[in-house]
Amino acid sequence: MQQIDLEAERKEILIKYRELLRVCRPNMDTQDKKLIRKAFNLALDAHKNTRRKSGEPYIYHPLAVAHIVVSEIGLGVTSVVCSLLHDVVEDTDYTLEDIRKLFGDKIASIIDGLTKISDIVDQNASIQAENFKKMLLTLSDDVRVILIKLADRLHNMRTLDSMPHEKQIRIASETLYLYAPLAHRLGLYSIKTELDDLGFKFTEPEIYEMISQKIKETQKERTKFIGKFAMPIRKSLDEQNIKYTISGRVKSIHSIWTKMKKKDIPFEEVFDLFAIRIVIDAPLDIEKAECWKVYSIVTDFYRPNPDRLRDWISTPKSNGYESLHTTVMSNQGKWVEVQIRSTRMDEIAEKGYAAHWKYKEAATSESGLDEWLRKIREILQNPDSNALDFLDDFKLNLFSDEIILFTPKGDLKTLPIGATALDFAYNIHSAIGNSCIGAKVNHKLVPLNTELKSGDQIEIITSNKQKPKDEWLEYVVTARAKTKIKQSLKDIRKSITEEGREQLKEKFSQIKIEFNQNNINRLIHYCGVSSVAELFYEYAKGTINEKHLKGFLREKENTNWLNYLTRALFLKNKKDETKTEVPDEKITLSGKLLEKLKNKSDALVIGENIDKLKYTLSECCTPIPGDDIFGFITIDEGIKIHRINCEEGKQLLSKYGSRVVKAKWTSKESIAFLAGINVNGVDDVGIINNITRIISNELNVNIRSISFDTNEGLFEGKIMLYVHDTAHLLDLINNIKKVHGVIKVTRLERT
Ligand code: MN
Repeated sequence: MQQIDLEAERKEILIKYRELLRVCRPNMDTQDKKLIRKAFNLALDAHKNTRRKSGEPYIYHPLAVAHIVVSEIGLGVTSVVCSLLHDVVEDTDYTLEDIRKLFGDKIASIIDGLTKISDIVDQNASIQAENFKKMLLTLSDDVRVILIKLADRLHNMRTLDSMPHEKQIRIASETLYLYAPLAHRLGLYSIKTELDDLGFKFTEPEIYEMISQKIKETQKERTKFIGKFAMPIRKSLDEQNIKYTISGRVKSIHSIWTKMKKKDIPFEEVFDLFAIRIVIDAPLDIEKAECWKVYSIVTDFYRPNPDRLRDWISTPKSNGYESLHTTVMSNQGKWVEVQIRSTRMDEIAEKGYAAHWKYKEAATSESGLDEWLRKIREILQNPDSNALDFLDDFKLNLFSDEIILFTPKGDLKTLPIGATALDFAYNIHSAIGNSCIGAKVNHKLVPLNTELKSGDQIEIITSNKQKPKDEWLEYVVTARAKTKIKQSLKDIRKSITEEGREQLKEKFSQIKIEFNQNNINRLIHYCGVSSVAELFYEYAKGTINEKHLKGFLREKENTNWLNYLTRALFLKNKKDETKTEVPDEKITLSGKLLEKLKNKSDALVIGENIDKLKYTLSECCTPIPGDDIFGFITIDEGIKIHRINCEEGKQLLSKYGSRVVKAKWTSKESIAFLAGINVNGVDDVGIINNITRIISNELNVNIRSISFDTNEGLFEGKIMLYVHDTAHLLDLINNIKKVHGVIKVTRLERT
């Protein structure tokens, strides 16, 4: 055992505490200081016997979260107190009541919110989506809950190194999937960037390393370039007495990688690797004019690309982002993005809305965040929105960028990219959406599924005869419209079902059959529908009609003769009914299986026939030995093995953490595994032949399928082949790279 120097630790805790007080100081009076002291003492005592995974005293964590909350999000004393106490109720003997007595209702309710969204990773049964929904519900109480939660996650990500590998991957996936987009939506750009990069570092360590290495290598060159580029601008700004700073901002590693993947280009070809940011110090009343002045200076020296001017000063993004962006041509013949903003705008851009509060007296009456929270609340208040659906809808809204639209009166609306006229109608009011038959976009009549573009002016055309239809769900992208359409469809179905009931009742009396449970059940069985509601509904719709009833009557007469047979039949049907619940049964079975797997300390070993478990290698990412993998317990296909960096896999990891099992490869593989590669090159005579010859003759690898596309002298090929492991595949890739005419060979991320 390593000797712990308690005295040194005590000193370290005090240093951290004083540092926290230092960052709080500008907005703190004696009263506040006492309150923070009280919270600190309580947290210190509550956590005195616990340590973090790293071995450090637990109190380091709440202190760090409180520090982030002040210095990186810009929150005040209440949030500092809550951050210090955020793990107390969950992890120690103190109760929420204790907190309420000592600190009052407000702080207790925030702590309550924080405790409710406890870390998902450790819970087995609960689905993350449900948790996420809860988290957003608490937003309606106090947005501080979510900001502190983000700070908590950020510190946990910063200290993720000391966690076991498997947990690292789960926490990192969840961060990429939920927390980073959420931070983005709240306008916390620097936290979003850091969460993305940290998440990426743990899920794709090699690529992360490669890109950060390249950024380091190119740093010197970049500094030189920025210096040269800024020189004439600096001179001119100085002459005009404008106070400013100019800096070069490198994109996040994660977004560089996203770009490389999306455009299929190497690091060197990512042209907007960095942006130049000019932040000016100007009073509020002239900051907009000053920003445009700077724009004019920049474009005196460099030619701007007219398509790439973004004015988020006149129309801020709904998360509060304000800035002027332009892309100009540098003297080296490269496009460079230039961002122009005031100190105030810069602070909001980096720290999000919390920073906005500091400028409250200056803020305009309409607050984008309030509007956003209102929308979220509205969606959440719908009692039967399924949590997973909700999450998907919500994420769609998170990721998409926005377009700006106008009503006929010139009111402004922001909707996500891809939004249609129907989305717009629902955005105005659900009654307008429900009766929408089309729209006039810029005075031209268009169908309701027309996709809108930024700047469009839309007039919705309605009819009181119109009703929502099933296919409308495919016409819309906003969560709000989807929820409202689903709700209306349900209402419509309900009233049709009610009509059907009345009609059938009348029909029964016409043909002299008693309208009772027994007869209805028999008719249900005869028509092959699954419920009473469905029977009524289909009858109203006419899918079940006269013909069915006649057949039913005939059968009924026969069965009167053979009553005992009918009974037998019914008994059999009952059995069938219980059988339809098979999926549930299988889930419990999987649950048991999971238990069993969890109790085994070692991982599921692929290639060995342990416990005769059925597993398959997933087709989306075709894992081969050497890849980092995990198993996922599916409902009806046994265990599926995915690569850890598989997109689909990431979603599974994050949504159903409890159904994930560790998996690794055995060292001695004799079988070959399917993998895919992509080959790009110059369309040269015989090149395809050369490639296949090398693969099958020289390397003795079996090819399963091969397809080539050529286009204007270039070709792209996809080859599926059998290899032993990643080393084998790498070797093969390197060999194909040597073929004359081949430009690029990569492994297929997905097939
Ligand atoms: Mn915590």
